[in-house]
Amino acid sequence: MTLTLEHARKLDTWDPLANMRDKFALNTGEIYLDGNSLGAMPKAAVKRAAEVVENEWGKSLIQSWNKHQWFSLPQRIGDKIASLIGAGQGEVVCTDATGINLYKAVACGLKLNPSRKVVLLEGSNFPTNNYIVQGLVKQLGDDYEVRFAEDHEFDDNIDESVAVVCLTQVHYKSGRKLDMDAITRHAQSKGCIVIWDLCHSAGALPVNLNQANADLAVGCTYKYLNGGPGSPAFIFMAKRHHNKVEQPLSGWWGHQAPFDFKRDYQAGQGINQLLTGTQGILSLAVAEVGVDLMCQVDMQQLRAKSQKLTQLFIDLVEQECAGYGFSLVSPRDPELRGSQVAFAHEHGYPIVQALIAAGVVGDFRAPDILRFGFAPLYNSYEDVWHAVQRFKDIMQSQRWQQPEFNQRHAVT
Ligand SMILES: *Cc1c(COP(=O)(O)O)cnc(C)c1O
Repeated sequence: MTLTLEHARKLDTWDPLANMRDKFALNTGEIYLDGNSLGAMPKAAVKRAAEVVENEWGKSLIQSWNKHQWFSLPQRIGDKIASLIGAGQGEVVCTDATGINLYKAVACGLKLNPSRKVVLLEGSNFPTNNYIVQGLVKQLGDDYEVRFAEDHEFDDNIDESVAVVCLTQVHYKSGRKLDMDAITRHAQSKGCIVIWDLCHSAGALPVNLNQANADLAVGCTYKYLNGGPGSPAFIFMAKRHHNKVEQPLSGWWGHQAPFDFKRDYQAGQGINQLLTGTQGILSLAVAEVGVDLMCQVDMQQLRAKSQKLTQLFIDLVEQECAGYGFSLVSPRDPELRGSQVAFAHEHGYPIVQALIAAGVVGDFRAPDILRFGFAPLYNSYEDVWHAVQRFKDIMQSQRWQQPEFNQRHAVT
């Protein structure tokens, strides 16, 4: 069956999430397929940002910590995120960067498993995860070790020597989705602590950390949760581990009584202990707008739409751009991928630049990956159709060969 524009439009007519698109600021004529890197701006973020700056900061100043509940924002937003990732109330805080939270999480995982010294990571993961754990292991000393494995090697490498298994559920480049339940079960049967990175899962698909019996998790809010550039990340710790272990970045916000200003650190109760210091309140307040929007959505409907968007994109690229040398890197089975599609092409970089110039915003990941994120809240099936038409036009006309598309920028 040949796929048509009419088919895409019909899918939009039936889309139960279609009304969410209007809640986002999108540039007319532009098709934004990079929500897996920086989510689009919820229109309500403008008003919220103005209110926090003009009223809360501008007028109430220091009183806002109490009056506008600034102090409890990490917990309040954390509880909302918890409802999106299958965590309980009081198991998540929204704070710091993903990398910082990963440092805390892995340090806690090692403390929970003190007789073992190995942290298992996926070598091809987003590099900051590897860098952060390498840094931690260096701090801890020579008997600690990072072990790298790729996904077909996990079974062989997850054994009784491993203290912590730390994996990203959806791969940042390929979009491949791991089986969280099965891997957690297997690793825990070998006595490992299991930490999940949800950077490409939170707001992209239903996640159920407690069903999987995950020990800890981290993730960011600026991708599918549409929290804004550099918005604070989150960290989850299962209740069964609360008050049993202390994270190493023991700042005053994690103290049992921050405003007693005692000389010595005493870890706070429950999830509060995962906090470190004064939070970026402007950023947190705006992140809450994106999280609130996601909380209105049925995650099963979101997943169904995400799978249909990515499938339509793959099918259309293969129908319209056949013979131009693209190979699908993402899993073909929609159950096995997240909400993004990656194709490999030797001229990936200039092709992505030409696409951006044509109003189709995806991104390039070295060495040869063209990456397209699909955000079910604001991408439509018709977007997918037009994106692939522009893609075809660039390949047919060979416009990607123009010199301006072949100059490398700092951020790809
Ligand atoms: C986006 C992403 C991060 C981001 O880390 P920051 O500390 O926010 O820079 C980390 N890990 C993975 C797997 C990601 O996809």
